[in-house]
Amino acid sequence: MCLFCQIVAREVPANVVYENEHVLAFKDVAPVAPCHVLVVPKKHVASVADAEAEDAMLLGHILLAGNHVARMLDVSASGYRLVFNNGRDGGQHVAHIHLHVLGGRPMRWPPG
Ligand code: 5GP
Ligand code: ZN
Repeated sequence: MCLFCQIVAREVPANVVYENEHVLAFKDVAPVAPCHVLVVPKKHVASVADAEAEDAMLLGHILLAGNHVARMLDVSASGYRLVFNNGRDGGQHVAHIHLHVLGGRPMRWPPG
């Protein structure tokens, strides 16, 4: 089982901030912003590139959960960044879809 599946299964501890039928959201262990939460689907899908048409609703649930977490953690009004790193050059290190919810400071562009 992958690391994020283990977190979903509560076999690896995490600081969970939100959960629903489709997703689990928990604080990143190495935050790069005052608010840094990962939203993961409970279903294992390795990356956005591996998502299929049948995952369309799931991808929507991930984004909506990101918005919900941003409101919960009070970064919605000031703005926030939602990021899916995808594959090697995309900077993806854990092969289970995760949406980074980043906020609480101004974000730069272009990203590194
Ligand atoms: P990626 O680089 O794949 O886009 O993002 C993976 C993220 O997972 C990184 O920001 C990293 O800090 C976080 N991470 C890695 N291992 C763990 C862990 O065991 N627990 C938590 N909460 N976050 C983790
Ligand atoms: Zn997984």
